[in-house]
Amino acid sequence: MSKTAIITGGSRGIGEAMSMKLGELGYNVVVNYRSASSKALSDAIAAKLQETYGVKALVVKADVSKADECKNLVEAAVAEFGDKIDVLVNNAGITNNSNFIDITQEAYENVINTNLLSFLHMTHLVLPYMVNHSSKEDQCSIVHTSSVGGLTGVINQADYCAAKAGIIGFSRAIALEFAGRGIRSNVIAPGMIMTDMLRGVNQDELHALAATIPEGYIGEVSDIAGALEYILKAPYLTGQIISPNGGFVLM
Ligand code: NAP
Repeated sequence: MSKTAIITGGSRGIGEAMSMKLGELGYNVVVNYRSASSKALSDAIAAKLQETYGVKALVVKADVSKADECKNLVEAAVAEFGDKIDVLVNNAGITNNSNFIDITQEAYENVINTNLLSFLHMTHLVLPYMVNHSSKEDQCSIVHTSSVGGLTGVINQADYCAAKAGIIGFSRAIALEFAGRGIRSNVIAPGMIMTDMLRGVNQDELHALAATIPEGYIGEVSDIAGALEYILKAPYLTGQIISPNGGFVLM
């Protein structure tokens, strides 16, 4: 029987790599994006998923920082693929890169709404489509993209670190609440991964920081897609954090 996965922020960077990984693993994929400029990227991912892996893909525009748009996203997924959702990947994220005196309230609220509240909204909306179907033999999985910023502090990222640390607490609580009911919840906490998010920061500062990574280089989106695959194939793993970070942060 076919399985369904929803990924938020599936249009670019880490989300694109994870969208493709979900297809490779045989899921029909709901690829979410927010910006009009990412529609073509998302459509191209959907076409590639169908051509490469023979799975179905649905592209849905939704700003997941808004609860009503999360609802539209989940309803679109259920209308297309039915009322069992097997995997939710909460991945959409943004940064401000600002010190906490100069930042505006609107800007830090946007980071919290996008990087943390969207994860709560999506999980809240998807759980009813998991809980009646899941079992030990046929598990559902929720995977949240946090960050090393959620494990340690990062200068000029106070709002981002607050959101990314909050995700970890949220995931652990959901893991306990649904343990034994066939629903697992785990976190991926990437280190520095070369995407548009990193291209947007000061490159001199970035390369100085990258020089301190014990493995000696910035990671790739495939490192994070690999962690997703590991989590989805690990039935005894719940409430955990996997952090592909080149040794940058040790847990
Ligand atoms: P990216 O290349 O900037 O992509 C961000 C993705 O999030 C895009 O698909 C974007 O959609 C989507 N998005 C942003 N706000 C959204 C919203 N309100 N509603 C729906 N989608 C939204 O970033 P990335 O590096 O791949 O980051 C992906 C995740 O990894 C984020 O949660 C980020 O915090 C985390 N992370 C990244 C790094 C890193 O070094 N890159 C490290 C640790 C953690 P559009 O294309 O429509 O804008």
